[in-house]
Parts: sequence; structure tokens; C-alpha cells
Amino acid sequence: MDIRTRLIRDATARPQDRRPVNPPIERGTTILLNRSADLFDDSRGPVYGLDGLSAHKALERGIAELEAASHVELAPSGLAAVTIPLTAMLGAGDEVLITDACYGPTRKFCSQTLKRYGVTARYYPPRSTPEEVMALVGEATRLIVLEAPGSLTFEVQDVPGIARLAKARGVATMIDNTYAAGLLFQPLNHGVDISVQALSKYVGGHSDVFGGAVAVNDAGTWRKVRAVIDEMGWYLSPDDAWLALRGLRTLPLRMAQHEAGALEAARWLEEQPEVLKVLHPALPSFPDHAVFKRDFSGSNGLFGVVLKPGLDGDRLIDSLELFGTGVSWGGYESLASPGDRMIARRSLKQDLGGSLVRLHVGLEAPADLISDLRRGLDALGR
Ligand SMILES: *Cc1c(COP(=O)(O)O)cnc(C)c1O
Repeated sequence: MDIRTRLIRDATARPQDRRPVNPPIERGTTILLNRSADLFDDSRGPVYGLDGLSAHKALERGIAELEAASHVELAPSGLAAVTIPLTAMLGAGDEVLITDACYGPTRKFCSQTLKRYGVTARYYPPRSTPEEVMALVGEATRLIVLEAPGSLTFEVQDVPGIARLAKARGVATMIDNTYAAGLLFQPLNHGVDISVQALSKYVGGHSDVFGGAVAVNDAGTWRKVRAVIDEMGWYLSPDDAWLALRGLRTLPLRMAQHEAGALEAARWLEEQPEVLKVLHPALPSFPDHAVFKRDFSGSNGLFGVVLKPGLDGDRLIDSLELFGTGVSWGGYESLASPGDRMIARRSLKQDLGGSLVRLHVGLEAPADLISDLRRGLDALGR
């Protein structure tokens, strides 16, 4: 069945005996049981609220459909969904190879916390071929972290190629799949061991909830991830699980609209005299377009615009009326944020040739957004 059906059919599953369509929000620490012995019978379901109740379970089933996963664990934020598997897979003396176009806070966790625990992080250029990535693998390398398209600069990695070579060398792989929300790309189907995503973005979809998900297909990896969650006490609140679940049901519909609006705006921007280039992997002008087309079933609302030299990205952002000024993305609203200072923190310095502005195209009418962008570009000359 189509994913649009699979994300919804769970809600109407039998029994349907006078129950609401959606699961209840169950707030609970203690779970009461009939008999003392039930406390030690794992097969009978949760014995403590931390294990997750109905909304959590329904959300886990939905993410499992998206990511083609056998096991899904929930986290209180997208960042926690990144740090949980890093903690689970790495120990003192180990090394992790990370794409240099990773989500900024992922880099911070590796250079601060993981470093204190004796883990070394090395960064590889996001456009490295699978062979170039494998050439960096050493005796201590336990994990390769991917992210495609890369944060801010949108490089598309050859995920199946890297996963295949890593598996042959016995090195685990993990990907931050937030761009695809699991809908546009299923990394586990391409041999990646762990796929994580921020539910705060497109799954939530309304800029009102934090959450994360860790998806795996192998019971051994799942046990390691589950152990970190248990031992560290990670928990997603039932209210937040419920909101993320509500968003999940309409994800494909919203994503299609984000995609259409972003493509219309990106193609228009490519034609404007103030624009040096547009960083959007679904545009034929993008360097990794062929890989993107091969692996992804579509694109989302996010892309970058590089202005011609001398034009000021902050000025463009400040002149827009329909685009909010803010980080994050995936909600119904359009947003603009400056990219230059964020890519300056990378290990490998990158010169894009002009000021980088990241746009998130929301669910407004594309023609209105384009008029707004024209107004912003006009302000650059003043
Ligand atoms: C936003 C984001 C995260 C973190 O999600 P939060 O819920 O904000 O912690 C992780 N990875 C990527 C690629 C993101 O864009």
C-alpha cells in the first residue's frame, strides 16, 4: 500500500468499539497491574510510564512505516535522537567519521561531550566518494555519520555506496534523515544501520513540538540504542508524542505542497539578477542532482540562495514580510535565516562566492512568496 494509506490505516484498525479515532493522551508515571508477578512479565506491556503508552506506541508504528524500520525509539528532541545512537555506538578509544555538512549541534556534541569520554571525531568533505570516505577509516573507526542533503549547503552523499563499503569493513553507519522526514528517502532500505530524524520539523509540521526518532532494522543495534535510552532516562512527553502523531497523518500532503512551493520559488530565484546560485538538490543545476534523483522520491521546502558578491543576505532577510526570521524549518510558515556564520564553524572552509540565505517555503501561496522575495531583492540595491 501507498505510504499515504499506511500512515493513516493504523488509526482505523479494529477494534473500533466506541473509541475515538486518535489514541488518548495518557499522562502517567506508575502503571497499575493486577498481580505482583505482572511487574516482571515484560510480555504484558509497560510497567512504568517511561516505557511509553498509547500515543507513543502509535507514533512509533507510524515512524516505522515511514523509515521501513523494525524498531523505532522516540527521543525528546531531534538533537537527542542524534546523540542517543552516538552514545550507544561509541566508547573510549573509538573514532567516528562525520560529514562536515552535519547539523551544527551534532558537531558540538562530538567535540565537547564525546571528546571528554575519549571518542575522536574526524570530519570528511560532504562530497567525498564512498572510496574516499573508506580511505579515512582506521583501526579505531566504529561509526560513519551521514547527512543528506547536508545542512545549509545541501550536498547529497552517495548513501547506498558508503553504506555498502562500510558494511564490508564492519563499520556501522548512521544518517540524519531529517530532510527527508523518512518520507522522501528510506536509508535503512539502502543498508544504513541507524536513521534518525527530528520530529520537530516536518512530522510535527506546525512549529509547536519537539521530538526525535531513532529507527533501526537490526535487533542488536536496537538493544544498544534502547539501553542508552533506559540508562539515561530519555523520555518524550505523551502530549508531544500525540502532537507529533497528529502531524504525521498529514505529512505526505504537506510535503507535496512544500515541495511544489519551494521549487517554484527556487526556479524563479535562479532567474533573478541579484542571485549568484540556488542550492536546491532537485534543480538540474545542482552538482549532486543525479544522485538526489536516483535516491530521493522528492524534495522538501528547504533550500539556499547565494547572492552575488557584495549583496547583503541580512538585508534581504530583514526586508521580507511573509518570511519569518528564524532558525528551524518544517512548519507551515515560511522562514529565512542567514547561513554565512553557520558554515563558518565548519572544519573545511567553504567559499560559496556570496552571502548565503536559507529559505524554508511554507504552505502560503507561492506567488505571494515570490512577490515578497522580489520586494526583498529590490531592497538590496537601496
Ligand atoms: C533541527 C534538526 C535537528 C535537531 O532537532 P531538534 O528537535 O531541534 O533538536 C537535527 N538534525 C537536523 C538535520 C535538523 O535540521
